[in-house]
Amino acid sequence: MNNSCKSLFYKALMIIVLIFFMTAPQIQCQRLRNRARNSKTGMITWLEWKPLTCERCSGEKTTDCGTCNGGRKKLAVKCGECKGKKKAACRDCYGTGKYVDPFLLTRCTRCYARRSIRCRACGGRSHLMYTNGKKGPKCKVCKKKGFFKCWVCKSKGNLTLKQIKGATYETATESQLKKQKNLLKPVFDKLNAFTGANEEKKKSFFRENDFNDAMKAMAALFPQFKNEIKQVKKMSASTLKFRLLNEYKTFPGKYRETAARAAANFLGVHLNIIDTCLDVISKNRKQAKRNKERKPAPGNGENDR
Ligand SMILES: [Zn+2]
Ligand SMILES: [Zn+2]
Ligand SMILES: [Zn+2]
Ligand SMILES: [Zn+2]
Repeated sequence: MNNSCKSLFYKALMIIVLIFFMTAPQIQCQRLRNRARNSKTGMITWLEWKPLTCERCSGEKTTDCGTCNGGRKKLAVKCGECKGKKKAACRDCYGTGKYVDPFLLTRCTRCYARRSIRCRACGGRSHLMYTNGKKGPKCKVCKKKGFFKCWVCKSKGNLTLKQIKGATYETATESQLKKQKNLLKPVFDKLNAFTGANEEKKKSFFRENDFNDAMKAMAALFPQFKNEIKQVKKMSASTLKFRLLNEYKTFPGKYRETAARAAANFLGVHLNIIDTCLDVISKNRKQAKRNKERKPAPGNGENDR
């Protein structure tokens, strides 16, 4: 095949692939609430939540365990997610068979619906490792279990969103939404400053005081994150004498980063919803103004704008 023939072949291939993806049925995963625009008034409204059957488990509520790959992957300890049963609660619907309202619940940002957290000290091996690859002593952090129950979601796989007093996110007024944002945003910023999420360079140095400060503010809003502070204390450098030497110094900091990032992500879910709702309100306000301007002089409609 000469070069022009080759490029023609690839172009044709690309088009076939494109057509395939455009015509393939879209997987309907309900991660967002739907909105509708009134064709006459142009106003946007939130649609009622009608849960669809979960695509991941087809409504069966369980799937092959993702941690041990349905028992096919040999783990050094009993699997933290399925407890050795090979089947685990579905991570998309949290074992309910149907999607849940994303304005009420979200996937646990700490365990990602795995319901368990792998011990970071031993990496789920139940014993520590020397730098030369030899087995070290038994892990005291997880008491040889290799996994913890997720202490943030209490092994439910999901977290309940902080609701607005006297309203839902879709019915809340602009001032109610802004109040909620003002409550959550400063803590979100504090956590991100600690993890360095908004900085270009990857952070390699973490200050304990910044972590404590940010997580205390988080725990005041969401008490389930209090356990994170406790766990981090257990993971101090002195308990990790046998940790791989190249990670030994940064490990407690990296561990804190994981914890703070989970907290920030949870707040981020709220802030995204609030911003979307505020956007709907602002668009509706502009639309209402336009509608008002149009109405009194229906004859001059064409000269508007
Ligand atoms: Zn499911
Ligand atoms: Zn498993
Ligand atoms: Zn969790
Ligand atoms: Zn361990």
